Amino acid sequence: MAELELIALNKSFGPTEVIRDVNVTAKDGEFVVLVGPSGCGKSTLLRLIAGLEKVSDGTILIDGQDVTHDSDRDLAMVFQSYALYPHMTVAENMSFALENMKIAKDEIQRRVAEAAKLLQIDMLLDRRPKALSGGQRQRVAIGRAIVRDPKIFLFDEPLSNLDAELRVSMRKELARLHAKIGGTMIYVTHDQVEAMTLADRIVVLRAGRVEQIGTPMDLYLNPVNKFVAGFIGSPM
Ligand code: ADP
Ligand code: MG
Repeated sequence: MAELELIALNKSFGPTEVIRDVNVTAKDGEFVVLVGPSGCGKSTLLRLIAGLEKVSDGTILIDGQDVTHDSDRDLAMVFQSYALYPHMTVAENMSFALENMKIAKDEIQRRVAEAAKLLQIDMLLDRRPKALSGGQRQRVAIGRAIVRDPKIFLFDEPLSNLDAELRVSMRKELARLHAKIGGTMIYVTHDQVEAMTLADRIVVLRAGRVEQIGTPMDLYLNPVNKFVAGFIGSPM
């Protein structure tokens, strides 16, 4: 099981408060989507969860365990920029983190082969990133997260660099992937349709604060204010 709890989370960069009193719980296997305008703190919140930024105040629990000050958390993050190593092949990109985790070679090969098949990149394992399309690169980035078999996946606008048509098909694939591999997903996007179709629950952020949390239907039918309504596209 993997429940993620953010309790009274705050983050400042110098005098600038970027995350303000955020309280969110993601249940085991839940697909939680963070939405909000550019600069509202979505990436910062993910980076706090990932342990890439230090929390200024508040607590992060994973399965009830306080990990606020732990550097090693059982999660994997997929970035908007893919962040692939250009000099490594697809297979090497996917296995690199596992080699540092001292996992046996045949187990690494098994995981890479399985994830590659799942993502339909098994015919690309010997290529380098520059010989891949944008969509293929994003699959490799997702594959690199999957092979770690984490309890929690963090996605920071993973589809925003893809063209509209590919975004739609990747969105469907992500939903299928989640149904297949499970895991708790925290997914950042500024795309309403993506949020509405993928989310079990949506968290609407504005200037570092949570405006509303609810199912896509909740937010659509009962937005707490015009900001949420505008963001979700409901007719309020
Ligand atoms: P979003 O992902 O929602 O677009 P970010 O989390 O990237 O927003 O940024 C939220 C705010 O925090 C922005 O005003 C940004 O300039 C600021 N910020 C993010 N990272 C840093 C940093 N390392 N130092 C100072 N300010 C930062
Ligand atoms: Mg961002």
